Amino acid sequence: MNEFSLALTDEQEQLRDWIHQFCVDVVRPVAGEWDEREEFPWPIVEEAAQIGLYGWDFLAQGMLGDKTGLTLPVAIEELFWGDAGIGMAIMGTGLAAAGIAASGTQEQVMEWVPQCYGTADDIRLGAFCASEADAGSDVGGYRARAVYDEASDEWVLNGAKAWITNGGIADVHVVVAVVDPELGSKGHASFIVPPGTMGLSQGQKYKKHGIRASHTAEVLLDDVRVPGQCLLGGREKLDERLARVRRGEKGNAQAAMQTFEATRPAVGAQALGVARAAYEYALDYAKERHAFGRPIIANQGIAFMLADMATEIEASRMMVWRAAWLGKNKSFVNAEGSMAKLKAARTATWVTERAIQILGGAGYTREVPVERWHRDAKIHDIFEGTEQIQQLVISRAISGMRIE
Ligand SMILES: Cc1cc2nc3c(=O)[nH]c(=O)nc-3n(C[C@H](O)[C@H](O)[C@H](O)COP(=O)(O)OP(=O)(O)OC[C@H]3O[C@@H](n4cnc5c(N)ncnc54)[C@H](O)[C@@H]3O)c2cc1C
Repeated sequence: MNEFSLALTDEQEQLRDWIHQFCVDVVRPVAGEWDEREEFPWPIVEEAAQIGLYGWDFLAQGMLGDKTGLTLPVAIEELFWGDAGIGMAIMGTGLAAAGIAASGTQEQVMEWVPQCYGTADDIRLGAFCASEADAGSDVGGYRARAVYDEASDEWVLNGAKAWITNGGIADVHVVVAVVDPELGSKGHASFIVPPGTMGLSQGQKYKKHGIRASHTAEVLLDDVRVPGQCLLGGREKLDERLARVRRGEKGNAQAAMQTFEATRPAVGAQALGVARAAYEYALDYAKERHAFGRPIIANQGIAFMLADMATEIEASRMMVWRAAWLGKNKSFVNAEGSMAKLKAARTATWVTERAIQILGGAGYTREVPVERWHRDAKIHDIFEGTEQIQQLVISRAISGMRIE
């Protein structure tokens, strides 16, 4: 195990500065426009791909080539400081990549993850399709079915997935479906739906509160046939796992929990970027804005609010970085990934709300970006496990008991 340290390397600092500049030059000037348009920002993602910020190589370097675990949260915080909607458009494919990495064989990872991204001149998208309209937190309630057709060695998928980032516009969809309905959440498997497969279509595209440049839609599966080899992890492993569960033995739940714990700090880092953007804006504003003949920051009521905002952001970052380090070094003890995500998301929602307060009437208008950041922050309390689901995971970890 590497020695615990939160000191950034020179490379990590350079990466942070490079992404910061991309955000200043390219992302921030158009962030408000893409939010208003509520469309996927293709030209910006294409530009990100051209400079190497969107792509399999970037992800591989950030994930595989980093022993500290800090590269990804540092990069993500900076990108989401630029804009969360565009940040999500650039990072959303990572959800599909993580889904493939979590369940796929080495060969499947090498075959499909690069296809999720395409090339700098021909970008592709990936989507991870798990949630359903009646089952988001309650993963045991999924209804989408996958049935094996022995004669053709194909899996046939039917059902509807809800709130899917890049859903329907992605080239590669990773779909979680029920293979044995009697086993609840342990009877699922994940499948690759390759580009152009018949029967997969986009349902409604959602109109959202925030991260509006990120595309979120239903994914409809109508007799979608995929080759047997599109089952992630392969048939043998699935049969073994299902047999273990049927015998009442523990499945790979522990391994799955560790995977989720390891990806949660990245979501915390997203929230941190949004929080920092709002805090910096409010700090500058409070120094410039005068009321009662003095800058508003000269009042403790405003200055102390900013002091608390800065403190919460620092505390959240330390938790996110530590959880990222633990994730890399496989030594979670008390659901630290969930704690980091919970804390950073709450911080972002609270800090962005306080920022509006500091800006007063201006903060409530769309003339300045603070109201957008407040809308963008909120999603972090909801997706990748809601606030309450993080509390559930943490309370189970600290108590060793089944909390409902
Ligand atoms: C913009 C956006 C993008 C998304 N992207 C994706 C994606 O790419 N892929 C994907 O699969 N999903 C995605 N989702 C879905 C997201 O993960 C779910 O919305 C989330 O998990 C919550 O599920 P739900 O909406 O069904 O809420 P519910 O599970 O119905 O929860 C409603 C409320 O009840 C609470 N609650 C539920 N169960 C409990 C409990 N046991 N104890 C206490 N409180 C509880 C929740 O915390 C919440 O406050 C996305 C959602 C959004 C909004």
